[in-house]
Amino acid sequence: MTKLLSVVVSVYNEELALREFYAETGKILKTLPADWDYEFLFVNDGSRDQSLSILREFAASDEKVKIVNFSRNFGHEAAMIAGLDYAGGDGIVCMDADLQHPPECLPEIVEKFDEGYEVISMVRTKNKTAGFVKNFTSAAFYKLINDLSDVKFEANASDFFAVSKNAAEVLRNNYREKVRFLRGYVQSIGFEKTTIEYEARPRFAGESKYSIKSLFKFSINTILCFSDLPL
Ligand code: UDP
Ligand code: MG
Repeated sequence: MTKLLSVVVSVYNEELALREFYAETGKILKTLPADWDYEFLFVNDGSRDQSLSILREFAASDEKVKIVNFSRNFGHEAAMIAGLDYAGGDGIVCMDADLQHPPECLPEIVEKFDEGYEVISMVRTKNKTAGFVKNFTSAAFYKLINDLSDVKFEANASDFFAVSKNAAEVLRNNYREKVRFLRGYVQSIGFEKTTIEYEARPRFAGESKYSIKSLFKFSINTILCFSDLPL
């Protein structure tokens, strides 16, 4: 029986990266084992550039491309949740549109699904392009949240991850909070888990959509989600 891999991609002002992402990722998806088919589920998170028309162009000539379009910018977490909601796959991968999450990991992810794993966390070995401030604050964030919370987070777990249909169903039904930290939930929902290491690539084009200020706000929200200690 053919299985379906849904590739969920959150897109916010990525007109400079989308074509390369689609070409490169599509090429790799075509090399998956014969019993795996795939779909792209692009979530346009209120882009104000040409992203949406580029996505529509893909969809017009490729029936494997689906689009969820937000009325405004709701943020990366909301985009991934919407992607999970609409993804029909037996396996679902969330990835960024800027090629920082290397598509060459996809065959390995599918292999893990075939071995029976249901939650696959992609662990970043290096993030050369993040810069000292981002790497340092990221390390400090994980130290703090692991000290404060009962859930133990994999430091460097990224928002590059894959879940089975079953695991996605749990995320859909039981994690509907307005403020969310999906990569944290993914690590705490149970199921057979494994990790794959990857080296983050530099962003293909364009700029990071996250400022230090928005990351700080995101970190505070997350700590409050997973710990009642501050209360
Ligand atoms: N993104 C999004 N909504 C936002 C901000 C970012 O959907 O409000 C997407 C963005 O297009 C990219 C991914 O989320 O595909 C990660 O964002 P980015 O690369 O800017 O973050 P960084 O890698 O610098 O942490
Ligand atoms: Mg990025």
